Amino acid sequence: MELYKENQLKIYNSLTKQKEIFKPITEGHVGMYVCGPTVYSNVHLGNVRTFMFFDMAYRYLLHLGYKVRYVRNITDAGHLENDADVGEDKISKKARLEQIEPMEVVQRYTVDFHKVLETFNFLPPSIEPTATGHIIEQIELVQMIIDNGLAYESNRSVYFDVHKYNETKNYGVLSNRQLDDLIHNTRTLDGQSDKKNPQDFALWKKAEDQHIMRWPSPWGEGFPGWHLECTAMSTKYLGDNFDIHGGGMDLKFPHHECEIAQCEAAKGTSPVNYWMHSNMLHLNGQRMSKSTGNTVNPHELLSGENKFFSKAYSPSVIRFFTAQSSYRSILDLTDDGLLASEKGFNKLMEAVNSLKSIKAEKISTVDIIEWKNNCYAAMNDDFNSPILIAHLFDAVKIINQLKEGKASLNELDLAEFISTINAFVFDVLGLKNETESSNSDKLTGVVEMLIQMRKEARENKDWALSDKIRDELLALGIQLKDGREGTTYSIN
Ligand code: AMP
Ligand code: ZN
Repeated sequence: MELYKENQLKIYNSLTKQKEIFKPITEGHVGMYVCGPTVYSNVHLGNVRTFMFFDMAYRYLLHLGYKVRYVRNITDAGHLENDADVGEDKISKKARLEQIEPMEVVQRYTVDFHKVLETFNFLPPSIEPTATGHIIEQIELVQMIIDNGLAYESNRSVYFDVHKYNETKNYGVLSNRQLDDLIHNTRTLDGQSDKKNPQDFALWKKAEDQHIMRWPSPWGEGFPGWHLECTAMSTKYLGDNFDIHGGGMDLKFPHHECEIAQCEAAKGTSPVNYWMHSNMLHLNGQRMSKSTGNTVNPHELLSGENKFFSKAYSPSVIRFFTAQSSYRSILDLTDDGLLASEKGFNKLMEAVNSLKSIKAEKISTVDIIEWKNNCYAAMNDDFNSPILIAHLFDAVKIINQLKEGKASLNELDLAEFISTINAFVFDVLGLKNETESSNSDKLTGVVEMLIQMRKEARENKDWALSDKIRDELLALGIQLKDGREGTTYSIN
């Protein structure tokens, strides 16, 4: 039986502001969309935190036996500076400054993004669509919204009519904003004069002469508004109503609010049943952000070459550190925090590595089923990984008692204990056993052992055995060389 049938997962839904029992639209299947990066620069660790949480959520859903279609996009067009409707496209700007093609910018930072994800042991999403690959779908959506009377063309751009929409729907349903307050608080910016109201947002923008990323449309040459791509791609691959949509807290407004409005306006459906938002990563007490320069990129933290941290940290230690706090809380990245996580991670791995040496006994003196239920209860409570980790440290205590003979487990319980630890540590938290030796270390060990055996054979004048070791290693492509300093080897 699939695990999801016996586990009642609860998710904090940002739309209803409460934890709700997760019930997918189609039993056994989950559709999940997460806003991906805008690939105009290297991702920083703040971005990584958000994607890391959703990687863990994806892993847990898979562990529960759901068939998950996980869509995470790449924003390669339409995201303007200052996240507003004016200014230059972030990617075009970078291309102009570096005198390269926008698609070279996109390629460079997409490759970097993928490298970072691989380093941190992320599972790839099921689909990774790009905004530029879905221009036709976006134009179709704009047309649908115009046809439904909720968008208007103005000077070859198309804007969403927020005021009209708000007559029958609620613009602000996700972010709890009132249109009246928004009206009160928005300043009219230069260049927004094409809009009926400053709260309206761009669905399609006319490309000025210098704007290099442009596509033909019924309204002239232009490019899509930033919010539109996510509506186009999420509904294309997951349907007009799907299960989970995630992203960082900073995307709730306007990005996600606009996604809801666009889908309601085009298709008459609220697109998402469970909206999930992960909180921000801070660096020494201040939000990590590209615009303020308060950032550390993953390579700098992994290599130790940065001004903030005393040493290098491994990818799994950073994953462990992230999982030690709730995704809905602000997480402050500090040297002390990382050092403490490193200690904890090493302790956990040491215990996990020693599991192999534990032997089953006739009787069990520990209630493994209760411990296992606690682990599931933690994750079922809105992916509460810090509590899960506390239970994993309970397991460390049990392992130590087993090693010291102060506790025992029968064969069945021991197998259950080991498989549950492995499932949570490796499959769900996505940690890697960095203390275990690599295959090349193992090969070195084996060859050195054979060299030692050959030396002993020669000392015993067992020439047959000594030649056999040399010849058979040679047949495998490993050549031994006897010298004054002893025997060395080379691998061909
Ligand atoms: P961007 O490339 O700026 O569109 O951001 C990609 C993702 O990273 C979005 O989901 C953001 O919400 C998220 N993000 C940006 N800054 C931070 C931060 N300091 N902490 C956590 N997530 C962040
Ligand atoms: Zn998005």
